[in-house]
Amino acid sequence: MDYGDALTKELFDKIFSGEKKEVYNFLRDEINELYQKAKSEELTAPIVELFRKLLLLNEKDGISAESFGFNREELLELADKHKNIDEHGVTVGGRVLKAIPIVEEANKRVEEYLAKKDIEAPSGIELWDKIVENKKRIMETLGMTDKDWNSYTGQLKFAIEDVETLSKIIDLPEKAITDVLRVTKHYRMRLTPYYASLIMPGNINDPVLLQSVPTGEMVDNVGVEIPPVAADHSPARLIDQFYPRVVTIKSTNMCAMYCTHCLRIAHIGKKDRIYNKKAYLEALEYIKNNKNIRDVLVTGGDAFVLPNSLIRWILEELDKIDHVKMKRLGTRIPVTTPQRVDQELLDILEESNDKKPLRVVTQINTAQEITPISKEVFKQISKRVSAVLNQAVLLRGINDSKVKMWKLCETIQEAYVRPYYVFNCSYRNPQFAHMRVPVQVGQDIIEGMYGNISGDAIPRYIATAGGKIPLHRTNVVEFAEDGNIILRKPWSGEIVKYPDADPETYKNDKQFAFRKYYD
Ligand code: SF4
Repeated sequence: MDYGDALTKELFDKIFSGEKKEVYNFLRDEINELYQKAKSEELTAPIVELFRKLLLLNEKDGISAESFGFNREELLELADKHKNIDEHGVTVGGRVLKAIPIVEEANKRVEEYLAKKDIEAPSGIELWDKIVENKKRIMETLGMTDKDWNSYTGQLKFAIEDVETLSKIIDLPEKAITDVLRVTKHYRMRLTPYYASLIMPGNINDPVLLQSVPTGEMVDNVGVEIPPVAADHSPARLIDQFYPRVVTIKSTNMCAMYCTHCLRIAHIGKKDRIYNKKAYLEALEYIKNNKNIRDVLVTGGDAFVLPNSLIRWILEELDKIDHVKMKRLGTRIPVTTPQRVDQELLDILEESNDKKPLRVVTQINTAQEITPISKEVFKQISKRVSAVLNQAVLLRGINDSKVKMWKLCETIQEAYVRPYYVFNCSYRNPQFAHMRVPVQVGQDIIEGMYGNISGDAIPRYIATAGGKIPLHRTNVVEFAEDGNIILRKPWSGEIVKYPDADPETYKNDKQFAFRKYYD
């Protein structure tokens, strides 16, 4: 008897094992109906359903397929039919004994995440009704009109920068208010009304609140501030350079809102400064004179706080430099003040991208920051540039669990943004040491993504210590002497053997492909 493959034979042996038993009529009818369907329809699913049911009855109650009057020949006809219909020749044994159980096992791995993701880490899209309520309340309190709310200038004009206004908008305990007052003597606080509307009242450690409203630790954390690495890596005015082919132009020290975890907290937001054109020219001159430089990141602060004319000019100047092949703009504005992104800016992005690839690099740390508004802005930007990439920071209470980080990565991917990096929060600034997360916690979170969410939703996990250092664990357990590599599946820990390419064959250039015909 030809079963087609070993798995189909195994399946038959299983369903025909056990006893031939008397079965209830309803069960006989059910099986008969499945059989008739499997025979009459030119589909694989009814055949799979019949075999799965027979297998289940056998495994659960020890009932042989003979109990329903089947013999191997007639079921083999169905197995052949299955294989013939399937475009890839998949056998019913392969499907029932291997493929379906693999999917069922995989589903168990994400069960907990799927059950919790919208409760523990709701996105701004799921929270939209509450955000709209917050918006109404904030507009009323601040006396904003719709025009104010919908414009960038309105968002900045009514930005919340002092404790008095903050306490009208967000209900915080007296002690917290006192601390905000203490901290804001040293560090700037600014939330746009839009960003404030993302904060959920009643959620004590709301992830948007944590990112925008300082707590006492920011001044109480003891320790000497380590000078920003940039101080050692700024070879020219406005320039940071860690690598031979990539440089950063720190084009402004301003942002629309100021983050409590800002890596550049020592410089950003202290005092708004409009940079002199000479400074930009000096930075551009450095780039012109260094022919190794291929990729230029224009950041800040936030590059999108610059006027459109200046953004256009910088991009045009970069496009004029032959050896600069690509550009990036660093901005968090699409999640903090999406009202800023106007048609003119979108046109500028597209024009520049047409000349040489332009990417927009953003920072989104919680799914809560993705609302229908920011999603639409990212959609518009993504149509005009070659990629929109996210650089999140792993932050305590904000995204330091599988559920929160996975949800963040999936949500931004659905909002046209590609998860790119997750930084372990820097050790250099004592101001936010309390928000740091141990490296291993991050490894578990990020590596757990493999095999469980789309590959291009998985960011690289990075430490910044004078450049970006990957923090992923190795999954290569051993290079065995027999030519196999012992690998670990990051999502389950399962060990698998992976035969390596033969090094001798690899070295033998004389026998490689067309080369051998000429010797
Ligand atoms: S947007 Fe970036 S540069 Fe601006 S405060 Fe936040 S982390 Fe710092």
